[in-house]
Amino acid sequence: MAEDGVDVLLLSVGADLPYFSGYEAMPLERITMLVVPRDGAATLVVPALEAPRVVEREGVFSIKPWTETQDPIGIIARLVGGAETAAVGDHMWSGFLVDLMSAAPGASFRRASTITSPIRSVKDEVEIERLRAASQAVDRVAARLQGGEIPLIGKTEAWVSAELGHQVIDEGHDRVNFAIVAAGENAASPHHEAADRVIQEGEGVLCDFGGTMIGDDGIGYCSDITRCVWVGERPEREFLEAYAVLHEAHGASVRAATVGTPAQDVDRAGREKIINAGFGSYFIHRTGHGIGVEAHEDPYIVEGNQAPLVAGNAFSIEPGIYMPGRFGMRLEDIVVATEAGPDSLNTVDHHLAVVTA
Ligand code: ZN
Ligand code: ZN
Ligand code: ZN
Repeated sequence: MAEDGVDVLLLSVGADLPYFSGYEAMPLERITMLVVPRDGAATLVVPALEAPRVVEREGVFSIKPWTETQDPIGIIARLVGGAETAAVGDHMWSGFLVDLMSAAPGASFRRASTITSPIRSVKDEVEIERLRAASQAVDRVAARLQGGEIPLIGKTEAWVSAELGHQVIDEGHDRVNFAIVAAGENAASPHHEAADRVIQEGEGVLCDFGGTMIGDDGIGYCSDITRCVWVGERPEREFLEAYAVLHEAHGASVRAATVGTPAQDVDRAGREKIINAGFGSYFIHRTGHGIGVEAHEDPYIVEGNQAPLVAGNAFSIEPGIYMPGRFGMRLEDIVVATEAGPDSLNTVDHHLAVVTA
C-alpha cells in the first residue's frame, strides 16, 4: 500500500475479503466492509445479523457490527477518515462505491487489485496442494466420463451437466461453479449453455466443469477442467485430425509455461501449432486464466501480457478449436509454474476418449 500510495484498502463482496480475512461477505444490499488503513488496525464493518458468522481473528481485524437503523456508510467513512487515496475491491458493488464517494469527497478511489492481485496470484505450498486436491477431484469425474461410466447416448446436455455437478460435489467440492456440456455443433460455442439437446452416437461432446473446495479456514480453491469425448464407435476423421492438433498445441503451451517466460509466449507456443495446421481463425479465445480462490484471476495467458511467470503462478492451459455449425473442442488443465518446471495439477488422460454408453 505504501509503495502504491494507497492510504486505505476497502474490501467487500468478492474474493479478496475471504482470501485475506477468512470471511466471505453475503452478497446482500446490507454492506460488509473490511477497512484496512495503511497505518493502523483493520476493522470489519458487518451487519449485526451476520456478525455471528464471523470468526474473530485477533491481531488481524476487529469487528464493528451495525444494526438495521444505523448508517453503515457513515461508519465506514469515519474509519476512512482523511485518507486521500482509497483502493476498493474490484468486485465491490457500484452502489456501495457511489455512496462512499459521496461520504468521503476528499478521497480518490482506485482498484484494489493492483495491491491484492500480485499477492493472490503467487500461491504458496499450502495453496498449491489445495488446488491440486480440487484438480484431482475433477480428474476422477473426468476419468469416469472417459470410461463410459456417465451415460451419454440418449441423455440431454442438461442431464449430463447436472450429473457432472453431482459428482463434483460427491468428490469433495462445496460448490459447482459451472458444468458446460456441449454436443456436436453446440460445442462450437465455447461457453454453450447445456440445454435439451439430446446426445447421439456419432458426435463429439465437450465437458468443461469445476467447482470450489472450501477449507476449514473458510477459504475455497477452485478446479476447472475440460475433456472431450467421442460418442459412438469411430470418430470422424476430421474431428480426429483437429483433436490431434489441439492435443499438440496444449502440450506445447504446457511445456512453455516455465518461470520467467512471458505469459503471452505461453499463448503463442500453442497457438502457433493451431495456426500452422490451418485452424488459427477457429481458436477464438486466450489460452488461459489464473485460478485460485476465484475461477478466473491473474495471470491471464493472453497475447499482450508480457509479465513473466513467477514460481507459484497457477493458471489454466485451454486451447480450443471451434468450427461453427459443425463441432468444437477444448483441452484444459490447471498448471503451476515452479522452479522445477510446469507442474500439471490435472493428470487425467488427454486423448480423445471413445464412449459407447
Ligand atoms: Zn474450464
Ligand atoms: Zn478455464
Ligand atoms: Zn497430452
